[in-house]
Amino acid sequence: MVAGNWKMNTTVDEGIALAQAVCAAVSGTTGVDVAVLPPFTHLWAIRQVLEGTGVRLGAQDVFYRDSGAFTGEISPAMLAGWCDLTLVGHSERRHLFGERDDEVGKKFVASLAHGLEVIVAVGETSDERDAGSTFDVVERQLDAVFAELETPPSVDDWVIAYEPVWAIGTGRTATPEQAQEVVAHIKQHVRARYLDGAPRVLYGGSVTPANAASLFAEPDIDGALVGGVSLRAEEFSVIVAAAAEAIAGRATA
Ligand code: PEP
Repeated sequence: MVAGNWKMNTTVDEGIALAQAVCAAVSGTTGVDVAVLPPFTHLWAIRQVLEGTGVRLGAQDVFYRDSGAFTGEISPAMLAGWCDLTLVGHSERRHLFGERDDEVGKKFVASLAHGLEVIVAVGETSDERDAGSTFDVVERQLDAVFAELETPPSVDDWVIAYEPVWAIGTGRTATPEQAQEVVAHIKQHVRARYLDGAPRVLYGGSVTPANAASLFAEPDIDGALVGGVSLRAEEFSVIVAAAAEAIAGRATA
């Protein structure tokens, strides 16, 4: 999977043009689950652009209640039936907007309850990495999500994005080995604690056309959550093509 998180970028018209350019640029590539996550204001219009292209539509966040006096929030009930997925727990939500682990869990559960696939983002700060607590942090963030669940969801309905906070938007990518180590740990933790299988785990944090192939060559990395580069359709499509090549390589290995 390669998902593009546009964050708070583009006007509606620019977003429509970007979605059209992404669809055109990835149209020859098969086998990769491609998604774009535009701002809320763009979603309905971009849904029409994506129709029939195979590129899926995601929201960058969601609230956990269906309706009510929650000024400014968007509920999963509002997205259900026409939007494919939600992203919850992005580090900018956690660190800039003070979102707590339990709130991320509630958003995860509410999304699934409305038939939306979920990408749940986890990752450590640089201080946490330096303190040697990376595994503890991602386990805590995942356990808080699962604490909200009555029954474990099917692994097909959700995706984890491992995004070290120090690598997001900084140009400082985790090395493939660093990313692989944490992604493998995440899979092991999820399998041991909750599920028979493991969901797909993406890496996110300054993924570019130059480093995508080496990240995807790692055995446990199942794709990328891409921020900055997702605003440039051609470069984004190179990352999608690298994912397609990695899939082909795994199939013949
Ligand atoms: C992100 O926002 O999820 C992200 C990974 O951003 P960037 O690719 O710009 O580091």
